[in-house]
Amino acid sequence: MENSTSEIPPKGMSFIRTSLNEKDTTSDNKLRPLDFSDFTGQEKTLERLRIIVGAARARGDALSHILFSGPPGLGKTTLALILGNEMERGVRITSGPIIEKPGDLAGLLTNLEYGDILFIDEIHRISKTVEEYLYSAMEDYRIDIMIDQGPNARSVRLNIPRFTLVGATTRMGMLTAPLRSRFTLQTRLDYYDHSDLTKIVLRSCHILDIDTHPNGAKEIAGRARGTPRVANNLVMFARDYAQQRGDGVITLEMAKAALELLEIDDNGLDEMDKRLLRTIAENYQGGPVGLNSLAVALGEEEGTLAEVHEPYLIQKGLLQRTPQGRSLTPKGFQAIGLNHLALKENIDSQQRFDI
Ligand code: ADP
Repeated sequence: MENSTSEIPPKGMSFIRTSLNEKDTTSDNKLRPLDFSDFTGQEKTLERLRIIVGAARARGDALSHILFSGPPGLGKTTLALILGNEMERGVRITSGPIIEKPGDLAGLLTNLEYGDILFIDEIHRISKTVEEYLYSAMEDYRIDIMIDQGPNARSVRLNIPRFTLVGATTRMGMLTAPLRSRFTLQTRLDYYDHSDLTKIVLRSCHILDIDTHPNGAKEIAGRARGTPRVANNLVMFARDYAQQRGDGVITLEMAKAALELLEIDDNGLDEMDKRLLRTIAENYQGGPVGLNSLAVALGEEEGTLAEVHEPYLIQKGLLQRTPQGRSLTPKGFQAIGLNHLALKENIDSQQRFDI
């Protein structure tokens, strides 16, 4: 399928060419795996996708709708682009908050061709009105749009080619049940383990032509919070560091020194993670504290805390979410060099003193 480069994308849509031998210009694009065989990790998701792609191709059919969930930077967009390559179809990329009105959605959908993939990132942030229109588009491949107002108002039916909606969300719980149920395949991406991330780091170094020692790559992978996007960012910083402070080779020592400069600790916790843990420990005696108060105390968006920082801290067993709010675990106290028992004793004696 051809996407003409002279085509003007409708509002909120990026056109992506998906040919496998496409030359990428930005280094980030260069690092994106282009097909299943190039994609490391996420075995369960990959197996599910291979099955539905194989079956759809054998039937000569379009793919059914797919929902990816999981923290940012784990490969949701990359997989949507890979699906386009594997199906040899076009991929259109947009994001939930950009599609403001039903007319925006209609513009996106009517520009698709048979089997094309419409990738909607942050689909949980789509507006209620647009979501209603999405239902009939996903199920019946048509939408009824109202045009004009008052006595001239009339409904126009638009037929849409059979397309595949690939949705991505960092907040599965914020997706409405009716929307969720319209995705035939729902699959969650998890944080990568150390060995898969090391492979990703070595692959990125190879693509970017960076001389790296295996131990240097392992060190970076171990502190990348299980996230390929973070790993790639650290690779680029370590490359610059090694270039400025060494002979350009990412050795173990260079990697360690670069990560130290970024204040990323052995657990992969960055400055904000540590501030978050410390605030709960010091200002709220370990919690529970509501997300809203925490966001104000840290001067950070609630969404960023909930979507970017908390999932990793929870996965590491440092933080827990309870109905009353966020609390530190004993491991969470340890991660910032505090002892939860000593803190508790301190509070108890303080309370005795207050009485
Ligand atoms: P998301 O959409 O989940 O936020 P992306 O698909 O944009 O994440 O991935 C972020 C970056 O991480 C991409 O640019 C890609 O280079 C890299 N990446 C993600 N998953 C993998 C993987 N499995 N193997 C190699 N690189 C990956």
